[in-house]
Amino acid sequence: MSEVFSSPDFEAKYTYHGRDLGATWSPTETLFKLWAPTADHAVVRLYRTGNPDAMDLIAELPMEPSVNGTWQLRKAGDLNGIYYTFVVTIGAYTAEACDPYAKTTGVNGMRAMVIDMASTNPDGWELDADPNGDLNFTDAVIYELHVRDLSIDPSSGIHNKGKFLGVIETGTTTPSGIPTGLDHMKNLGITHLHLLPVYDYGSVDETRLDQPQFNWGYDPTNFNTPEGSYSTDPYNGAVRVREMKQMVKGLHDNGISVIMDVVYNHVYEAKDFCFNKLVPMYFSRVTDGVISNGSGCGNDTASERSMVHKYIVDSVCYWADEYHIDGFRFDLVGLLDVDTINDLVAAVHKRHPNVVFYGEGWSMPTGITKDCKLATQLNSPLTPGFAYFNDTIRDSLRGSTFFSDALGFVTGASDMVEKLEGCFRGLPAWCQDPTQTVNYISCHDNNTLLDRISLAVPDHSFEDRIRMNRLGAVFYMMSQGIPFMQAGEEMLRSKPDPKGGYVENSFKSSDRINSIKWNLLDAKPYRDTYDYYRGLISFRKAHPVLRMTSAYEILSHVVPIQCEHPLMTAFHISGDVPGETARELFLVFNASYTAESIALPEGSWNLCINAEKAGTEALTVASSAIEIPAICAMVFVKE
Ligand code: CA
Repeated sequence: MSEVFSSPDFEAKYTYHGRDLGATWSPTETLFKLWAPTADHAVVRLYRTGNPDAMDLIAELPMEPSVNGTWQLRKAGDLNGIYYTFVVTIGAYTAEACDPYAKTTGVNGMRAMVIDMASTNPDGWELDADPNGDLNFTDAVIYELHVRDLSIDPSSGIHNKGKFLGVIETGTTTPSGIPTGLDHMKNLGITHLHLLPVYDYGSVDETRLDQPQFNWGYDPTNFNTPEGSYSTDPYNGAVRVREMKQMVKGLHDNGISVIMDVVYNHVYEAKDFCFNKLVPMYFSRVTDGVISNGSGCGNDTASERSMVHKYIVDSVCYWADEYHIDGFRFDLVGLLDVDTINDLVAAVHKRHPNVVFYGEGWSMPTGITKDCKLATQLNSPLTPGFAYFNDTIRDSLRGSTFFSDALGFVTGASDMVEKLEGCFRGLPAWCQDPTQTVNYISCHDNNTLLDRISLAVPDHSFEDRIRMNRLGAVFYMMSQGIPFMQAGEEMLRSKPDPKGGYVENSFKSSDRINSIKWNLLDAKPYRDTYDYYRGLISFRKAHPVLRMTSAYEILSHVVPIQCEHPLMTAFHISGDVPGETARELFLVFNASYTAESIALPEGSWNLCINAEKAGTEALTVASSAIEIPAICAMVFVKE
C-alpha cells in the first residue's frame, strides 16, 4: 500500500480537511470521527475506565462511513470522562487502537478519554498569555530541561518530585537555603523554558510509578496527550491535562515562556502506533516492505503524505491553542518535509505570531515516499520561520561530537577561529539569517559541557576547566542568533558514571546520573559559575546590538579583528542600533594557555566581563594595550 498511499489519486480522494477528527464533546452529544479509508468496518468501543486490563466495556457502537475516508458516530448524552477506542476491520485484519487525535488517555495511553477541555482550565486561563510575546526570536534565552531532573534530587526541596507541578513550586531551597527549581531559573534570567518530551511517551510504565523509572521520552505514543507519569494520577485522563495547563500558567505567571520538544519524526513502535494500526503503516515510511530508519530510532514518519501532514499541523496548532505553548523544538526535523514545516509555522502564526520554532536539521538517509524537500540546515532558506541547532558553533567551541577527546577552541584547538567568526555573526556556513541559528555548547544529547571538557583535557586543573567552560559560554551567549543552554550548564552539571568516566547519553540512566544536584550550589565554584551565567544573560539582555535580526545589520555592525595568535579571536561592534546604550562593544577571546596582549580601539572602555565575573557593571576601566589572561574572554563597553 505504501505507493498507493502517496499517489495523487489516493490523496485526491482521501484527503480530509475537517477540524473535527477525534472525539468532540458537548453536554448533549459527542461526535466521534476517524480517518480510516482502508477500513471495511469501524466501531467505537466505550469503556468505564482507562485501564486496558479492566473488563469494563460499556458499548460497542458501529460508525457510519462519511466523506474522504472518514467514519463517524454521534452518541447522545454527556460522555465527559468516558474512555474509548476505535476498532477497524480490513478483510481478515482487525485492530483495536487508541484515537490518534486523543485529547487525553487513561494509564499508559491505551484508551482515549472523552473530555470537556474547558473544565480542565486553571483559574485565569482566559487571560493567560506568553509573557515574552513582544520579543524577537533573537531576544530569547532558552533553557532546556527534563521535568523529572529539576525536582527529583532530595536537595531540590521541591514537594511534587518528578511532576509537572514540581516545575512551578516557588520558595524552594537547598537545605542551606539556596533557591532551587523555578526560583533558580527565574533568577538566572531565562526567557523560555524548553521541556524535553511532555507528550505521552511509551518508555515509562505509568502503572509502576512507585518505582524509580527514567527516560528522556523520545518515544511518542500519543502526540496530543500529556505524559501520564508527570501527573499525580495517570489513571484519570483529566488530571494530566489540568496539571500540564497549571504548569504552563505557573511559568507564564513567573515571566517564563514554554517550549515543547515534539518528536513527530518517529514513533515508539511503528507497528503498535495507533495511527499505523488503524490505517496500516500509513504514518511511517515503508519501501518494499522495509520500514525506513534514517534516524536510527526505528522508523521515519511519512510527513509528505497528506493526512500525516495534516496530523502534524493539527497537533502543533492544538498545543499552541489549547495549552498556550509558546514554542516548539522539533526532534530530527531533517526527516520532515519543508511543506509540512512551513504550513504548521504559518497556521500557528496566524493566531500566535510570537511562537518560536526550531529543530535538529541534520541530513539523514530516509526513504521518502514521494518527491519532497527535507527541513535540513542546508535547506534553511526554504523554511524562513524555522531555526536550526547550530552544531558548527557547538563543535568549534567544545570539539567534535563524534570523538569525545577531540579538542575545540576552548580546550585549545587552533583551527577553529574562522568558523567561529561566522558563528559569532549568526552566520555559520549553512545559514543566511541570524533568526535561524540556535547557538549552544551543550544540550541533553552527549556529554555535559564540563564533562566534555574534562574528557578533552583530563590533565588540566578543575579551575582551568571552569575557565574553559566560561570562555565557551561567553562566546555563544554573546553571539548573534538565539542562545540555548542545557539545564545545569550554569552550575557545572556533570554525569559521572559509577563505572568510571562520564555517561554520554543518559536517556534511560538513573535519577542519580540525571538529576540536578542542587546542593552543589553550596560550594563556591558552582555558585560563582551560576552568578557568572546570570551576569552573561543580563549583559545580553542589556545590549540590543547582540540581538540583531538581519544578516545585513550584523555584517555592517560586527567586525572580526585579526589576531596573531591562532587561539585568539576578537570582535568590534558599533552600537548604533535602536535601544542600544553602548557606543561600541569590544570582545576578545583568548583560548591559549598564556596571557596575550591586544590593543583596544581608541578611547576609554569599561570591562564588564572577564574570567571571574560577568554583568552589566564596569569591573574596571581600560584603554590602549591590554593583557588578556590565559583561557579568558573579556568584554568591553564604550559608553
Ligand atoms: Ca506514557
